[in-house]
Amino acid sequence: MPPPAPPAAAPADRRRDLRADCSACAGLCCVLPAFTASADFAIDKPAGRACVHLTGDARCGIHADLRQRGFPGCTVFDCFGAGQRLVQVAGVDRPAEDPGVAAAFPVLRQLHELLWYLAEAAALPIPADLRAEVATAQARAERLAGGDTAGLAAVDTAAVRAGAGELLGRVSAAVRRGGRDRRGADLVGADLRRTDLRRTSLRGAYLIGADLRGADLTATDLLGADLRAADLRGADLSGALFLTRPQVAAARGDAATRLPAVLERPAPWAAAPVRPGRPRGRRGGAAGR
Ligand code: SF4
Repeated sequence: MPPPAPPAAAPADRRRDLRADCSACAGLCCVLPAFTASADFAIDKPAGRACVHLTGDARCGIHADLRQRGFPGCTVFDCFGAGQRLVQVAGVDRPAEDPGVAAAFPVLRQLHELLWYLAEAAALPIPADLRAEVATAQARAERLAGGDTAGLAAVDTAAVRAGAGELLGRVSAAVRRGGRDRRGADLVGADLRRTDLRRTSLRGAYLIGADLRGADLTATDLLGADLRAADLRGADLSGALFLTRPQVAAARGDAATRLPAVLERPAPWAAAPVRPGRPRGRRGGAAGR
């Protein structure tokens, strides 16, 4: 295998553009999806009907109190910047009411999420041939994302995601260099404070409510891992692989939690107290599970 090749230059991180700008959108995520009354949404809402809390200027009327008002699902949704892009592409007065926009929105959101992962992959220390494959996949995803609403609606997202998923799996393996494979593991509520998870693939793992306080997640692949209510206080995720804003928003953390530079610390984390003497993840040695 060729030696890892660093990026030839240090291009601007594409991920910094892949973020929602609600001020430039039209509340697409508050109109297009259907809600089912549940722990995530306080109300039932059919697809295509505006949420009762959406204001006339396409803002959320309860933004500061979403969790308290029974809408935690809204706090963890992220369009990766697809919303404002689609509003510009559609060029219609009421984009949220346009059937073409409704069909294109979930597609563009998936493509933007994929571009997030591929941008991270491009910045990782991987062999040159693998880097070239990533660049090709990026170009293809960018081309698909640049289509009009009809073109977007025709994209076979399942095929695109499958191909990219396989590629990202090889990127992960190259970076983790023989780390453990715990893809899809059921770790709901598990105490992982003393488990060495470095270089482990937790892709698609169920970490709901898991105790990861003080854990070192360097080179831990978290693509698609369910981190809802996972306790990340004091954990080091600064070198974690394929972590996204929705995952972070769904977890618990504090001012001592370390995140990749591209991700912002959720406001409640900054205010959360740091517990003295918190458990630390074991450094080195065999995994504890
Ligand atoms: S509660 Fe606010 S963020 Fe959630 S769908 Fe309604 S308007 Fe949008």
